[in-house]
Amino acid sequence: MRNAEVAGFLDEIADLLELMGNNRFRVGAYRNAATRIQSMPESVESVWRAGQLQEVPGIGPSIAAKVSEWLQTGGSRYLEVLRRLVPPGVRELLTVPGLGPAKAQLIHRSLGITTLAELEEAAREHRLRQLPGIREKTENKILRELERLRDRSRRLLLGVALPAAEEVVRLMQHHPAVRKIQPAGSLRRMQETIGDIDILASSEQPAEVTQAFARLPIVKEVLALGPTKASVLTTDNLQMDLRAVQPEEYGSALQYFTGDKQHNIALRNIAISKGLKLSEYGLFDESTGERLASEEEADIYRALGLEWMPPEIRTNRGELDAAAKGTLPRLVRQEDIRGDLQVHSCWSDGTASIETMAEACRVLGYGYVAITDHSQALGVAHGLSPERLEQKLREIDQLNPRLAPFRVLKAAEVDIRSNGALDYPDDLLAQLEVVVVSIHSGFEQDRERITERILRAFQNPHAHILAHPTGRLLNRRPGYEVDLEQVLRAAAKAGIAVEINGSPDRLDLDDVWARRAKELGVKITINTDAHAPLNLQAMRYGVAVARRAWLEKGDILNTLPLDQLLAFFGRRRQRRRRAA
Ligand SMILES: [Zn+2]
Repeated sequence: MRNAEVAGFLDEIADLLELMGNNRFRVGAYRNAATRIQSMPESVESVWRAGQLQEVPGIGPSIAAKVSEWLQTGGSRYLEVLRRLVPPGVRELLTVPGLGPAKAQLIHRSLGITTLAELEEAAREHRLRQLPGIREKTENKILRELERLRDRSRRLLLGVALPAAEEVVRLMQHHPAVRKIQPAGSLRRMQETIGDIDILASSEQPAEVTQAFARLPIVKEVLALGPTKASVLTTDNLQMDLRAVQPEEYGSALQYFTGDKQHNIALRNIAISKGLKLSEYGLFDESTGERLASEEEADIYRALGLEWMPPEIRTNRGELDAAAKGTLPRLVRQEDIRGDLQVHSCWSDGTASIETMAEACRVLGYGYVAITDHSQALGVAHGLSPERLEQKLREIDQLNPRLAPFRVLKAAEVDIRSNGALDYPDDLLAQLEVVVVSIHSGFEQDRERITERILRAFQNPHAHILAHPTGRLLNRRPGYEVDLEQVLRAAAKAGIAVEINGSPDRLDLDDVWARRAKELGVKITINTDAHAPLNLQAMRYGVAVARRAWLEKGDILNTLPLDQLLAFFGRRRQRRRRAA
């Protein structure tokens, strides 16, 4: 059978026509023909021999002629012409919107450019505008489009996607046609990065909902608009997809579109084992066809003999078993958090005074905050010398009576130097109530050295919390090489807490390692690493990671009231003193 081969050459024609900016009906005709031939039960060659090619739906005289030439000669003159017109080096350039075949050819031939990276470099060096017919304006537009392409191929940070989706929900929820509306997909599961932003609504008039969505002021471009689905690009260049379903199907659609995929596959298998069928339209009895549940998500789980479970843990890593046995964890909630243990002020690289940060924490309902400005080694972040730190501690002493019963804790984010020593002398560390230790330099050290370095820092009796344990920045840099298993085991033994850093570009530890930390008996703190009052909002992202890691209130140190928190940190010092 040569069907796949024939479909392949028709697809290549479609690709090249599309790259050259041909109209989509012509492109679509080739794609359609390719699909038909690919899925034909009989051999395309025998159909052609019988002279019946044109009787296949979707194959007109022009495509039939090309197919018969291919089957006879193994080639296509038309395809050869297209390949010459769009050589491989030009193909990538044509993916830039607004860059047509003529200009792409010119750029390719005159400058030898074959990749988007080379194109960007040439545009930045103003080499494009030296070509005939390319003006400064075109050059700038190419740069903008390249940036947009990059944005779209990158996964979105939860901290970007969630506020954007919530804004849409806010704008849409009072629309008369909307019954219910909320984010679905990876966003509802609070995954650290998001592919597409999916929103689900219920309505008796779904078409009115998709139209209202497409008309929102934040919409820059409508990519697709139908009676139940719409897809738009926002003014921030985020792609958002909205789906509107009938109210009686909302629960099953929400369950289905929340995922994740592995969870849904496992759930469907549970349904099958009970003689039921689960889809986005509901849970059905396989034999009678009767719909057993669909309006409420919880009804579907219940009808399958399962407790409803929070979306964050729907990853098929044991949650279905636990839901069947009634042993699901009681996940930590944002309301459980009583304070933030990594916050920076303008003493180092923060933007606000200690008092302002403390006031902001009080507004959030917290009882305490640790102001953890950087230590001296971190010159770029205006790390504090020992003298400056002592001045800062005096400021805190003056501030606390005014803020009582709220407490500003004397603290610092102390660098672990490249040899594992802490960046302040012990007598100064002894004056601090919370000592956060972390790595900000020497990322290039090998795995063994970095691991050793952290383990050595744990030997200091004044260290309390290891912050952002891998140093990664999402979308920007991977973390340093470190043996986390060994670090977590050592933390458990030494009584060091490990941080889930809630800053949306860190989320470090991640959910997988945070769950491992709990197994090993490590206490966790969820901190924001805020450098400005608004950053304190990032607590919700840190809590989301903790929830995805199955963590409960009791696993998180900063759910403790102040006296118990300080007792925990104090115990470590006492233990060390007794041992000494
Ligand atoms: Zn830090």
